[in-house]
Amino acid sequence: MQLEDLQNAIEFLSAIKDANLDDPNMPIHPETLKRLRNPPQHPCVLEDAHKCFTLDLFLATTNASEQTYNDVCKAYACLHPEHADKILSHYRMKHRMVELTGVDLLVHDMCINSCIAYTGPLACLEKCPKCDTS
Ligand SMILES: [Zn+2]
Repeated sequence: MQLEDLQNAIEFLSAIKDANLDDPNMPIHPETLKRLRNPPQHPCVLEDAHKCFTLDLFLATTNASEQTYNDVCKAYACLHPEHADKILSHYRMKHRMVELTGVDLLVHDMCINSCIAYTGPLACLEKCPKCDTS
């Protein structure tokens, strides 16, 4: 490990230690803050079979691509065209998960070669310090 890696690790640790929901450098939408400070206090009950199917599918494909999720939805819609409108798109399902859990998404760019995420002390970089890719 190089000195620069150690310095980055220390900066990440410091950023984690100082993290809070009111950080002006990482503004959080007021609705998201409200959800985070008031998470659901009751178990999630899904009585609709299609909502359960969509949730199960979404959770089962979290390590797969969005295309995989959409392909399964498309196959289901071919089998049950009468219920096709009840299956949520991947985009809508992500937002449904926010509603169900109270936990919102934080999106950070990554190096196209998966070297780093542009977050914390690396958030302001314009190119990857590992592979020099823009
Ligand atoms: Zn890289």
